[in-house]
Amino acid sequence: MKPAARCGTYAGYQRHTRTTHTEPCAPCKQARDAYLAAYRSLAETRSKLRWWNKTRSAALELLAAEYPDRFAELVSEQRTGRDNPWNPAGTEVNDHGKL
Ligand SMILES: [Zn+2]
Repeated sequence: MKPAARCGTYAGYQRHTRTTHTEPCAPCKQARDAYLAAYRSLAETRSKLRWWNKTRSAALELLAAEYPDRFAELVSEQRTGRDNPWNPAGTEVNDHGKL
């Protein structure tokens, strides 16, 4: 049998609320607050990162449309001489500008 979750941990908090149905003690509430704060902070960071990458991709699309030949050249340069883990179309790496 698994040992009971210790008080002062998030698992301890869950033991109170889900298993023993007792009022969580102060250390468990504190652990729950710390867990939620860390979770929210991570979610916020991920959300910012998604925005960052989304706007960057949109800018790259515009750049590629404006300079298609140069963009194709740069993509090809970046993919040449590196391990290629993915080639979905089975095409040559320097197929013009395909991302
Ligand atoms: Zn507790």
